Amino acid sequence: MIRYPISEAELIALINGVQPNWIGRAQTRIQHYIAAGGYTDDSDFWGEIKHVYISLQHEKCAYCETKLQGAVLASKVHEVEHYRPKSEVKPWPNHKVVHWKDFKPAWPTGAGSKVGYYKLAYHHLNYAIACTRCNSTLKSSYFPIRGKRDIQNSDPANMQKESALLLYPISSVDPDDPQELITFNGVLAVPRHSDGPANERAVTTIEFFQLNHEDLTSRRAVEIRTLWFALQLAKINPQDKQLYEDTIALMCSPQSPFSSCVSAFLELTKTDYPTAEAMAKLIITALTANQPLTA
Ligand SMILES: [Zn+2]
Repeated sequence: MIRYPISEAELIALINGVQPNWIGRAQTRIQHYIAAGGYTDDSDFWGEIKHVYISLQHEKCAYCETKLQGAVLASKVHEVEHYRPKSEVKPWPNHKVVHWKDFKPAWPTGAGSKVGYYKLAYHHLNYAIACTRCNSTLKSSYFPIRGKRDIQNSDPANMQKESALLLYPISSVDPDDPQELITFNGVLAVPRHSDGPANERAVTTIEFFQLNHEDLTSRRAVEIRTLWFALQLAKINPQDKQLYEDTIALMCSPQSPFSSCVSAFLELTKTDYPTAEAMAKLIITALTANQPLTA
């Protein structure tokens, strides 16, 4: 995960630039839900401003950093995720789900709620673009928290007491920068801190979104292989050094897939080259042999 920096005012300006009356219409809809005591709609109203988030996130999934190309002809692959679920909140972890059956966090993860965060159904800081895997299959209506659920709140900036366990990457409404909490050991996402709330948020996010599932580690491995080859080519072709250095810089930039993992690996090549080299060779060998790369 990476943070997508933008001020709230800039985000609102982008939304107004796409749909000048959207925020006003959203507020009218919210008044209906407040009168009804919950979310009562199922229209794709947020679809009107979806492209603001697709563009802000460089067509990447907010959680797994997969590149979701096809904003124009395949915009359905970009799902609008409600960070805080609008219609209900299911208790997590659900041990009937195979991915989480053995995960027993040592910290509270909050009770469920039949009523969702309906006042945030159209809040610009409750949206992110996510892939089907992360949004539909995994996120669903879960929202683990360490604190007390604050269903009636209408401003995400004032909800820190919930102590949300999943990271939110848009703007700075979430005080934690994802890359300050989650780093990578080769293709594997790992918590940067060994204990405390920072560790709990990282571990929960990694487990919740299955960030070390083979469907992601295998794709991160491909990126590391390309990075490694670019590093080697830069050494043996000094006349084309700039070309390879530009490629490496692009691979580590926010618009590239899995940039957090790739950046962490590049850093390792600078701080501990022998370990990076051994790891790169292991990854490339595993890819060639079609072997899984998991913890
Ligand atoms: Zn994803």
